[in-house]
Amino acid sequence: MTVFQTSSPHETRKLGETLGRLLGPGDVVCLEGELGAGKTVFVQGMAAGMGVRGRVASPTFTIIHEHPGKVPLYHVDAYRLEGVDDAGTAGIEEYLYGRGAVAIEWPQRIQELLPDERLDVVISVPADADEGGRMPDGDSDPGPREIAFLPHGEKFRRMVEELKALAHPGH
Ligand code: ADP
Ligand code: MG
Repeated sequence: MTVFQTSSPHETRKLGETLGRLLGPGDVVCLEGELGAGKTVFVQGMAAGMGVRGRVASPTFTIIHEHPGKVPLYHVDAYRLEGVDDAGTAGIEEYLYGRGAVAIEWPQRIQELLPDERLDVVISVPADADEGGRMPDGDSDPGPREIAFLPHGEKFRRMVEELKALAHPGH
């Protein structure tokens, strides 16, 4: 496991951007962390690093957002799904084995569908950070985050090594 610390949304986005540059077709990145942890901010960075078009937003009622690009980014937010039998999961598997890279928020909701080879990213707010339970509200509240990378499979182990060599949060 590799852990980075970031101290602002900007730094989290930059780290996502560095990862995004390493991603290719079929790569699956799962993002865990409580509401407001910074999952969507990280995915915004991934999108920038991949050079895809379109703004990465927090979920509306859409489960999957497609961002066209040389390698497309499929942004899945499974928050509203109630397990793999939920009708909303229909079609997700095609994205998982498609020609784009996939970012999945709330992957626990669709655990059974996740490929064995993937990169888990766990974002947490340190216990002493005391953000007072505020809801996400843009870039106005910089705070510390711990971002842990847990690669499953040789490909993603190598990717995390590359990320360690390239990323310099805080600079
Ligand atoms: P999630 O998708 O995990 O629910 P968002 O990415 O939508 O969370 O929101 C993260 C919130 O936390 C934003 O309001 C952002 O400004 C704030 N924040 C504060 N510090 C950080 C940080 N270091 N990294 C990412 N987000 C941060
Ligand atoms: Mg989100």
